[in-house]
Amino acid sequence: MNRELRKTVIAGNWKMNMLASDLGSFVSGLLPQISGFKSWCDAAVCTPFVLLPAATDAFKGSGVGVGAQNMSQFDSGAYTGEVSAAQLSDIGIDYVIIGHSERRQYFGETDKSVNEKLTTALKSPLIPIVCVGETLSERETGVTFELVSLQVKAALVGVSASDMRRTVIAYEPVWAIGTGKTATPEDAQEVCAAIRSVIASLYDKSTADAVTIQYGGSMNEKNAKELLAQPDIDGGLIGGASLKPDSFAAIINAANQ
Ligand code: PEP
Repeated sequence: MNRELRKTVIAGNWKMNMLASDLGSFVSGLLPQISGFKSWCDAAVCTPFVLLPAATDAFKGSGVGVGAQNMSQFDSGAYTGEVSAAQLSDIGIDYVIIGHSERRQYFGETDKSVNEKLTTALKSPLIPIVCVGETLSERETGVTFELVSLQVKAALVGVSASDMRRTVIAYEPVWAIGTGKTATPEDAQEVCAAIRSVIASLYDKSTADAVTIQYGGSMNEKNAKELLAQPDIDGGLIGGASLKPDSFAAIINAANQ
């Protein structure tokens, strides 16, 4: 195991939930429960765009990072409704989720747009969290490894080894997102290890050993410890359970192992 070579990252994905008025109680509920977390993981909350400035203020000085859930593949210009990497960095945002399955499913994102967004994000100081994962029918057809390998390879076209080291990959089986169905720790480990092998084949072993690979999909306070104990699972991308300070705190604390 090469855990010491890479960071554990626990990131919440609030999706289209929460209001600015919820931030105060969330932060005051969370922070007292996670004292010392910086010695075992990085933690962040990815909020809707409109909440980012308020969330940055609310978490200031706490060590909890703030992330966006999407960004434009373009640097700037006439792209109505879009938000650029530079604009996110400019207001102190740390992370950006790229290619979440809900964006692939409902908003037409493709492996190509994921690659474009990733290469754009990597020109900024943002830490990208690139999501990959198979649907239920793909799992049942037995193509999980091929499919996830393809998504990883397509996302990483043109990404240098040094940029790879600061890119986080989130393995999120689509059938486990928001469904309450979690991959078994062994199944999640197997795919995360396969993703690391793909990265090793594209770059080299030391680069692959340095990359943080998260699991996401109905991770909660009950299953987090076992998932996070797997050698190739270096953190979690957490949807529903990140909306509750007690659950999110329990997951952050479960990473202390
Ligand atoms: C997610 O949105 O990335 C996610 C994993 O959601 P949930 O934890 O609710 O399954």
